[in-house]
Amino acid sequence: MSVIKQVRTRYAPSPTGFMHVGNLRTALYEYLIAKSQGGAFVLRIEDTDRERYVEGAVDVIYNTLKTAGITHDEGPDVGGDYGPYVQSERKDMYTPYAEQLIKEGKAYRCFCSRERLEKLAETSEFGGYDRHCRDLTQEEIDEELKKGTPFVIRQKMPVDGKTTFKDEVFGEITVDNSELQDQILVKTDGYPTYNFANVIDDHTMGITHVVRGSEYLSSTPKYNLLYEAFGWEIPTYVHLPLIMGKNEDGSVSKLSKRHGSTGFEDLIEDGYLPEAIINYIALLGWCPKDNREIFSMKELEENFFIGGISKSPAVFDYDKLLWMNAEYIKAMSDEEFTERAVPYYKEALGDKEFDYAMFAGILKQRTEKFTDIPEKIRFFAELPEYDKELFVNKKSKTNLDNSPALLTEAYERLKALDSWDHDSIHDCLINMAQEKELKNGTVMWGVRIAAAGQKVTPGGAIEILDILGREESLSRLEKGIEKLK
Ligand code: GLU
Repeated sequence: MSVIKQVRTRYAPSPTGFMHVGNLRTALYEYLIAKSQGGAFVLRIEDTDRERYVEGAVDVIYNTLKTAGITHDEGPDVGGDYGPYVQSERKDMYTPYAEQLIKEGKAYRCFCSRERLEKLAETSEFGGYDRHCRDLTQEEIDEELKKGTPFVIRQKMPVDGKTTFKDEVFGEITVDNSELQDQILVKTDGYPTYNFANVIDDHTMGITHVVRGSEYLSSTPKYNLLYEAFGWEIPTYVHLPLIMGKNEDGSVSKLSKRHGSTGFEDLIEDGYLPEAIINYIALLGWCPKDNREIFSMKELEENFFIGGISKSPAVFDYDKLLWMNAEYIKAMSDEEFTERAVPYYKEALGDKEFDYAMFAGILKQRTEKFTDIPEKIRFFAELPEYDKELFVNKKSKTNLDNSPALLTEAYERLKALDSWDHDSIHDCLINMAQEKELKNGTVMWGVRIAAAGQKVTPGGAIEILDILGREESLSRLEKGIEKLK
C-alpha cells in the first residue's frame, strides 16, 4: 500500500533586501501548489551566504508575504516541526552529512589553497577544479589535518555516464556527468554551500515539491546526485520560466529596472494594489483552464494546477497590470475605495475640509492607480489660474460671446437654491437648459470650467459643485464671470 504524502513546498529566499517580482512569483506558486493540494507551505531563510547578507532584509520578506497575502504554515516566526527555519541556525546540521559522504567515499576533503585554485581557474583547460585532492592517501590527509590546513569538502562526481531527471515544466533533462564539477559542499568556514544546504534542508524538512526559477535547472543534476548518494527520494521539480521585459524596439530581454519597477515594494509605491499585483503575477507563466483573468487569492488556491505552468518566458506587461489594477479598483465598494484613497486625498487637499465619501462617485471608475488621485483632485483645494479661452467649446456650442450671460444666469439660479445637493443642482441647471431650449452641455460647460479652472476634470459640473459646497462654488462662479467681462 502506498502512502500519499502531504504536499510540502518551501519558499527559500536569500535575504538580500529586495523582493523581485520573480521571487514573489516563486513564493506565490509554491504557496498555490501546496494550497491547491491541501499541503503545507514553508518559509526557510537562506542566509548562509554571509557576504550577501543585508541587515533588515528578513523583515522585507515577512512584510512582503504578509502584504501579498501569502501565508506560510511554518517558518522562523511561526515555528513548526521541522525547524530551525533559518539556515544559519542549522549550521551544525550539515557537516555530519558531509562527513557521512566522506566515510562512504562519496566526498573528500580538499586542502587546495586559494592561490592554487585561482591559478587553476586561469590556466586549466578543465574549466574548474582539477580534482587534485580527490585521491589523496589517508596519510596525506592526516598530515594536512594535523597541520591544520583549511579545507573544503567536495562531492565526488561520477566522471562518465549521464544523469537524467524530469522537471514538471521543462520535461526530461539529461546532462553528461563529465560536465559536472566536484562541487564544494562545505566551505572552509564550516558553512555549507547553497548547493549542499538546499538538498539537506529540503530532505530533512520533508519537502515534496521544489519550485524555483529556471536558472537552477542546470544545477539540478548535481542535487540529484546528492539525493542518490544519500539514498533519498528525489522531490518533484517545478522550474519556472524566465520573466522578460518589453524593450522599446519591440524585442524582449530579462526583466530589469529599465523596463519599470521590478520590486514588490516599488510596485506598491507606484500605486498598484497588492491583490492586483498577485493576480497579475499568478498569470505570469501560468494559464488557467478557461482563460479567465481575475482571480482572488482564494480562487487561485482553488484553481491552480502545475500543468498550467508554461516553460516559455513570460513577458511582464505593465499596461496589463495597470488594466488589472483599474479592474480591482472598480470592483471595490465606495467605502473601501474611500478608505484606501484617504492618504491621497490628504496629499492633494491638505487640511481643507471635504466630505471624502463624495469623491468615490467621480473617481472610482476613472482611477487606474491610487497615486493618480492627487493630480486629479488638486483643483478642489485651490482654483488653478486659467485662461478664459477654456470657456470656448465647439461641441457644447459655447464661446466668448454667449458664455458671460450663460454663466451669470446659471450663477443667479444656483444662488437662489434653498438646498445644495446633487439633485437640486442637477434640476436647477437642467431646468435652465430646458427653459432656454439649449443643450445641457451648453449650460454645463461654463459652469464646470468656472468651478474647476481646468478643462479635464473627474466628474461633471454637478458633482464638482456638490463637492465644493455652496459658498466655494458661488465664489468660483463669480470669479469666472469676472474673468469673462
Ligand atoms: N536561496 C535561493 C534564492 O534565493 C533559493 C533557491 C531555491 O529555491 O532553491 O535564489
